[in-house]
Amino acid sequence: MTVTLFTNAILRGRPQPQDMLVEDGRFRMIGPDLPATLAAQGYDLTRAAVVDLGGRLVSAPFCDTHLHLDYVFTSRKPGAANTSGTLFEGIQRWGETKADLTVDEVKARARRAVAMEMRHGVQYIRTHADVTDPQLTSLRALLELREELADLVTIQIVAFPQEGMYSYPGGAGLVEEGLRMGADCVGAIPHYEACREFGERSMHTTVELASRYGRLIDVHCDETDDPNSRFVELLAALAHAEGIGAMTTASHTCSLGSADDSYFFHLTKLLRNSRMNFACAPTENLYLQGRQDTFPKRRGITRVKELTDAGVNVSLGQDSMQDPWYPLGNGNMMIILDYVLHLAQMMTPPEIDRALDLLTVNGATTMHLRDVYGIEEGRPANFVVLDAHDAFGAVYARADVVMSVRAGRTLFRAVTDVATSVPLLADHLTGGLPIADGTELLARA
Ligand SMILES: [Zn+2]
Repeated sequence: MTVTLFTNAILRGRPQPQDMLVEDGRFRMIGPDLPATLAAQGYDLTRAAVVDLGGRLVSAPFCDTHLHLDYVFTSRKPGAANTSGTLFEGIQRWGETKADLTVDEVKARARRAVAMEMRHGVQYIRTHADVTDPQLTSLRALLELREELADLVTIQIVAFPQEGMYSYPGGAGLVEEGLRMGADCVGAIPHYEACREFGERSMHTTVELASRYGRLIDVHCDETDDPNSRFVELLAALAHAEGIGAMTTASHTCSLGSADDSYFFHLTKLLRNSRMNFACAPTENLYLQGRQDTFPKRRGITRVKELTDAGVNVSLGQDSMQDPWYPLGNGNMMIILDYVLHLAQMMTPPEIDRALDLLTVNGATTMHLRDVYGIEEGRPANFVVLDAHDAFGAVYARADVVMSVRAGRTLFRAVTDVATSVPLLADHLTGGLPIADGTELLARA
């Protein structure tokens, strides 16, 4: 049996430093001063490796609930440049340049993106796979990758018809084929369909397919500034009627940033009752939306604050890494969080103190993984260590993730020492606290 004692961890909601005993990849016991407690129980700690976390904040791993792993690192491909910066030109450029994809090259690009996300503490990714391709190359690649990397990262795949269920020939059939092949979620893009009726039909098809195949739903929904794009209402109502609202996610919903309050007032009750989730990609939509505006220019993101205040679950996504929609994106979810706190004006002290929820428990809720996620006894020992001593400090400093542990195994440990001979810097740089392996704590027992 593999046993590790992680000591001196700061856990949100607990007043004093905690120790975490991990046995065979699961949290066995969590509490203050565990060596003494365990010794009193006659537990033999001499077989345990001990890791001192140095009084740092320990969090459940980050969730990136909206990403396109098949698109990453294609923004500079010949013909892929998006000169207007609009969502619609991005879709056009992707459609024009995707014919030469192969399973191997999609996997190679996606692997690099997953590694970058993991370096920033992400262990849960929901990726979309474009299925408007008769060869289903993206989906085949990402299905392979999901299995190959399962020990390192949990990947959910959405069968996503980028060019439409009813505007691309056979689109709905390709989504269904994707589910047969093993995709986790049904995807759709109603605002991109050729007309409103096609978009509405795609919402009915999405919910029917999810019910028939027992899958989750994640729709690119109302990713437009058009306040009349209101597919989110139909999606919520249909999912609620089927009893699968909590398994459903509306991604983007930018139009809620333009819609009037009377519509949102009506919608809020439905959203709360349906327990539908929202995924927001703030950097991407800040960049893509408002492109038909002169000034004033809209922010492009959904109502993160108002949805949160209404008790609706909202999680975040990186969405793009150097693709035809967005030329940046490095997998650092702390940057994504920073943007959303500013754009949604969520900076009261309680909002900042709770902000990490957007990357953690809210993400696990969107991904429908709450029963296996979190720092609790009996659950898989998955966690990250932030270079901060409390939740506010982590958000304030956009703290680096200095360690990531999955099923008790250390995925990486970052070196954070800062060399300086300047007293001012030496006194005030909080980094550089070592995360130490050691046996000194055993003496405490
Ligand atoms: Zn997307």
